[in-house]
Parts: sequence; C-alpha cells; structure tokens
Amino acid sequence: MILLLARTVGAQDLPDLGDASQSTLSQAQELMYGKAIMAQIRSSPSYLHDAEVTDYLNQVGYRLVANCPDPGGHFEFFVIKDESINAFALPGGFIGVHSGLLLTAQSESEFLGVIGHEIAHVTQRHLARMMAVQRKTGLASLAAIAVAILAARSSPQLSQGALAAAAAAPLQAQLNYSRDNEREADRIGLQIVQKSDYDVHAVPVFFERLQRASQIYRGGAPSYLRTHPLTFERIADIQNRVSEMPYRQVPDSLAFHLVRARLTALDGSPSGAVVTFRERISHKKYANEVAARYGYVVALLRQDVLEEVDIAAARGQVDTLLEKAPDDPMILALHAQLEMRAEQTQVGLSIYRQALRLYPTRRSLIYGYSAALMNSGRARAAVEFLDRSLDRVAPDPRLYELKAKAHALQGQQLRQHRARAEALLLKGNLSAAIEQLRFAQASDDGDFYERSAVNARLRELIAVDAQLRRDN
Ligand SMILES: [Zn+2]
Repeated sequence: MILLLARTVGAQDLPDLGDASQSTLSQAQELMYGKAIMAQIRSSPSYLHDAEVTDYLNQVGYRLVANCPDPGGHFEFFVIKDESINAFALPGGFIGVHSGLLLTAQSESEFLGVIGHEIAHVTQRHLARMMAVQRKTGLASLAAIAVAILAARSSPQLSQGALAAAAAAPLQAQLNYSRDNEREADRIGLQIVQKSDYDVHAVPVFFERLQRASQIYRGGAPSYLRTHPLTFERIADIQNRVSEMPYRQVPDSLAFHLVRARLTALDGSPSGAVVTFRERISHKKYANEVAARYGYVVALLRQDVLEEVDIAAARGQVDTLLEKAPDDPMILALHAQLEMRAEQTQVGLSIYRQALRLYPTRRSLIYGYSAALMNSGRARAAVEFLDRSLDRVAPDPRLYELKAKAHALQGQQLRQHRARAEALLLKGNLSAAIEQLRFAQASDDGDFYERSAVNARLRELIAVDAQLRRDN
C-alpha cells in the first residue's frame, strides 16, 4: 500500500525525480520519499509513541529481515493506533502495523506472516517499480507529500492541513499491488517466516480467517484485503506451498503477549483499562497470565493519582511477575517505573541500573532512567548518561528532548537550545530547529568551543533550508 495525500501541489513544482526512463526508483530516492512521509506520520495523532511496543516490533521485524533472501537495505517498523487489521509498506522500508493486526492475530506466527509479506514487497522492490510506472500519477502524489512537508515548515496553516491529511492518510486512496506482486510477496514472505523459525502453517490459517471475516461483516473487507486482495486462488497457493514445509510448533514469545496487553492497557481511559485487567485476572480470562498481570500494572500506573491501595496492588502483581519472568526487560522497566511513582527513588534508580546492565540499548530503560535521575535532582548525571546512550543507539527526538530538559534544570541555556534544535531536526522541523540554534547563539553562557559548534551547525541548517526553498 502506498499512502497518497491530496494533490496540493502541481506537477511543475515537483523535485527532480531523475531519468523518466528508469524502470525503478533508486533506493536513495525511495528512502527520501519514505522519510518525508514518515515525518508527517510521526506527528499525526495515530502514530504510537511507545518505546516498548516499537522495540518489540523492530526486534521481530529485524529478525525476519535478517532471514530474507536478499537482506540489507533500510527497515523501520512502527505502530499506528487503529483497530482495523492492516499493515503497509512505505517507500524506503518503513513498515506500518495497525494495533488491530497485533491484537487480532491469534499467534505470533500469524502476525509475523503478514509482516513477512510486507517485508517481501520491500525487498522485491515492488513499491519502487510501481512508483516508477506510476511516475505521472502515483509518484507525483508522493512528491506532493514531500513538497507539502517542506512548505509546511514555513506556513503553519498548511502544516495543519497536512497533519489532518496524514491522520487520514492510512485510510485514503491506495495503490494496489498487482497479482504477480502478491504472489511473489506470498512466496518470499513464507520463506522468510520459515527461515526465522516461526510456524508457516499459521499464515494461511490467518489469511483464511481474515477472508471469512470479510464475508461475515457487512462493513466491507478489512483494509488489509483492499490493498492485498486475498483471492481463493491466493490462499490455495499459500496452502500448497505450506503443505510441503515441515510442521513446527512455535510457542509465542512472552514479549508478544506483553506488547498486546500493553496496547490494550494504553487504550481508552485509565480507569476503564484498570477494570478490564482486574476482570481478566479475577475471571482468569487471559491467554497469558503474566501478560494480564503486566497489563493491569500498566493500567494502574496510567492513573494521575496513585492511591496507597493501587501501589500495594501493583507491587503484589510485580512480585508475581518477577518470580515468573525475572529478567524480562519490559517487566524490569515496569518495576522501576512503579517504584518511582511510589516515590521510592533509590529503589527505582537501582532497578534501572540493574536492568541497563542487561539491556544497555533498551530505549524504555534509557528514557526512564534519565527521567528518574532528573527527578532525583541529578540532572548532570542524566546528561552524562544520555551522552553515553547516544553513542550506543540511533538518535531519536525523545533522547534530545530529555537532554534539553536536563540542561534546562542546570540553567544551561546554550546547551538546552542546542539539544532542542537536534530534537526538532529529528522530527523534520527545520525552521524550528534553526530558531532554537539562534536562541542558543543569543544565550550568554557556553564556552568558545560550544559557541563555535552552534555557529557551524546553524550555518549548516541555513544552507539546507536555502537549498530546499530553491528546489520549491
Ligand atoms: Zn501484498
């Protein structure tokens, strides 16, 4: 599926897309479009900003990618808060997964069957070919997105419209893959699932269930079926292939269950979520007990006010969780978060430190520990820790926002604005990043080297901004 936004820009305004005789977009061009679309999607309200869910998705996603016939290339997986069953690939290897897909699949292998199929669309360059063929129409729209994003930086009004469009985007006009593309994605997708040691036999089972559901419900086919038409022929084809593959019973990972519980616990009102999980636990209505208890604590911690009785209930659950899965990163993070909320700062900090020794690149732990350091008046330690973490993991806006906050707590103006500029830049907001660097320049602290670094960075961003304005 390709997202197509309103054609707000005429074809004459489009950036140069290279030689029209090319049959495929270059990977660099594809990535450029993907990044432009992602900048919009990330700022739309349906994008799920949750480190635990995103980490899980990328972990299993990369495991599948590593087992592709032709691995390599850029991949990034993200979740869209939407109860419909869907997954889609964007140019540049960005793969979006609706929370509804994660929650509806009855096993991890079923879920990953769909992801394997999307990965295959990317590795087989179906999008790039389609975009090249549709150069006049489809690609023009994609280019329009990029231009709209660039324009949005200088016009707040246009930016509003673009955001609204991005929110609606996953539902809007899509390009369908050809039958041949579908068949190829099915074939390669199954290979990927098989090589990654998941159960390929789950794949046709899920597709069949999807198809049955589409016949039962009058609301029309699930969105996934609209972009990846599931014909009887296609399902039969998948069943045939699978019948030749060995049967394998693969238990779902604990992370799969925890992530599903987390999605449910984060949905709707906190009190509603608390009731949902309390009932699941008391009536033993769960597929996985650890996940039900985990979801209950996540829901409890969402409440603005945490009563003594909530803390006691949460501690009781966490004790059981730690007995059943002592080294799980999501459970360790939850434990630390609970103790911080219960104002047991030293206990919380020490749980974070212990967990980070096991999982030094885990984003939920990095975010949580640096926030905990700041809450306990150790902003300087937070900056040092964030700098060490930035050497280990890819930069993201949240890391720089935390860094900006830690500098602000120490009254460091220049450093605060400089970190804020990097956060904004990572969010694709160039003009706001430039503004922050100007604030950094105008601040009266910072040594000679820091001031020179700010000036150099500002010159760099201004040059990029000028280039973009010329291209438009
Ligand atoms: Zn497909």
